[in-house]
Amino acid sequence: MSDSAGDGKLEVKQASKEVKESENVAEKYSAMTVSKNSDINVGEVSSAFTAVPTHKSVKKQIHFANPEEKQEFSKFPTKAGRRSLSRSISQSSTDSYSSAASYTDSSDDETSPRDKTQLNSKGSSDFCVKNIKQAEFGRREIEIAEQDMSALISLRKRAQGEKPLAGARIVGCTHITAQIAVLIETLVALGAECRWTACNIYSTQNEVAAALAETGVAVFAWKGESEDDFWWCIDHCINKEGWQANMILDDGGDLTHWVYKKYPNVFKNIRGIVEESVTGVHRLYQLSKAGKLCVPAMNVNDSVTKQKFDNLYCCRESILDGLKRTTDMMFGGKQVVVCGYGEVGKGCCTALKALGAIVCITEIDPICALQACMDGFRVVKLSEVIRQVDVIITCTGNKNVVSRDLLDRTKNGCIICNMGHSNTEIDVASLRTPELTWERVRSQVDHIIWPEGKRVVLLAEGRLLNLSCSTVPTFVLSITATTQALALIELYNAPEGRYKQDVYLLPKKMDEYVASLHLPTFDAHLTELSDEQAKYLGLNKNGPFKPNYYRY
Ligand code: NAD
Repeated sequence: MSDSAGDGKLEVKQASKEVKESENVAEKYSAMTVSKNSDINVGEVSSAFTAVPTHKSVKKQIHFANPEEKQEFSKFPTKAGRRSLSRSISQSSTDSYSSAASYTDSSDDETSPRDKTQLNSKGSSDFCVKNIKQAEFGRREIEIAEQDMSALISLRKRAQGEKPLAGARIVGCTHITAQIAVLIETLVALGAECRWTACNIYSTQNEVAAALAETGVAVFAWKGESEDDFWWCIDHCINKEGWQANMILDDGGDLTHWVYKKYPNVFKNIRGIVEESVTGVHRLYQLSKAGKLCVPAMNVNDSVTKQKFDNLYCCRESILDGLKRTTDMMFGGKQVVVCGYGEVGKGCCTALKALGAIVCITEIDPICALQACMDGFRVVKLSEVIRQVDVIITCTGNKNVVSRDLLDRTKNGCIICNMGHSNTEIDVASLRTPELTWERVRSQVDHIIWPEGKRVVLLAEGRLLNLSCSTVPTFVLSITATTQALALIELYNAPEGRYKQDVYLLPKKMDEYVASLHLPTFDAHLTELSDEQAKYLGLNKNGPFKPNYYRY
């Protein structure tokens, strides 16, 4: 994390004083505790979200380095030409592939969706997907996802009478998968009009995009976009004559960046931005710090129900899937090094240990290192074990954790992969030198061969392993998607002045609410505080149950 992100976190702490007051406000939403009452009054959600500003910002419009600059999309470029055009500012467009294997991928069809004219069954052409004819198959994928997203579906059912998003025109940039389709269709059921594009050039499930386009959502996305396509899709999503977005849902910050850069006037209508990713949130804090954030923004990434669930449980459930699909390796007795013992690292280690792997940790932070020791892992320097290990997994969010110098010293057959957001953790660029031979052995699996014959096995070219080579669990995504939906409802319905041009965290009460919505899946029964106990602990019986600084 850069300094500015660190600064942002510091200010979160300072802002926690304000949370106390806001939590008092939130008390009146105790009826939302699902164990007691599984109905939600969405009108109340709005005021249950109380402002937790995490940065002081001055109201100021962003200054654009070159506001006159015009983006020229290549009209009929070659495939290669399209790839070499613009770059994603964050690499978020390229730093994770999908998970979500597109089951109907037709590699025979080389025609770019940009060169096709397609209509859905209602005669609309306001979308650009690989093949609209795949819609029915995509619909089945969405239905499967719905089965494990019951909390989001119940939010949809409870709130669709009220239509808390009536009049909302949401422009979204996320992975386009069956799970996100359930979110988009929930937003539509709650009254929103949606235009959507992909935050990643590889992650779109083509059939799901087709199913959304068939129902009238303006989707601009397909698996395997070039970078020029990527920005073209974002542009078509936002730039529609006679249509102006008033909400943004972003994952990675590229859409927000594009609006700032190309359509700053759109911000006059925008009521708020909801951002999911570490990277995107980091950028919002930077804008806020520079006094350039001109609308309120919700940081979903740092809500407990995202960080402690998506990062930990999603990785615990998907790391082995990604490794096994690509390598067929047996992990019992294998020596594995996990770099970083944060939420993602903890999830990976738990899964690997359960299979009998001998797991070591590298850490820079003594607290996380001590946690690793207490959990029974040896904490080592990568350089100390590099010659013996069978697998190296990075989960640090940092860069150059596995450098060329270390890669030169691995043993033959060592598997190297990354679970962090960005593809910078392994210095893959340093492996693209003439003396090393790259051999593609499977999709997402490269052998890199040293002159003396040593091979390392690099997975997904150093991009997120689970999102590249396996699927991720739907249930965890339901938790994040529910949080995103509530954040949108709140920002859209908030009375003028509740939120300033700043980055806000969800109040604890809302985190607790999202969690309680998911408890019925497990038939979990919460214990209720007695009056005496509540008084003893100094708590409201309906929560919040923990102070803001509690770490879970
Ligand atoms: P975290 O901050 O909780 O953990 C990262 C850990 O890495 C920290 O403890 C830090 O001290 C340590 N670290 C930093 N530099 C290091 C170095 N050079 N060597 C060893 N350790 C180092 O973050 P997290 O929630 O665990 O997320 C880690 C990364 O995974 C982020 O990039 C995040 O965006 C990404 N992520 C991936 C998924 C997924 O599905 N693959 C899900 C959520 C988050």
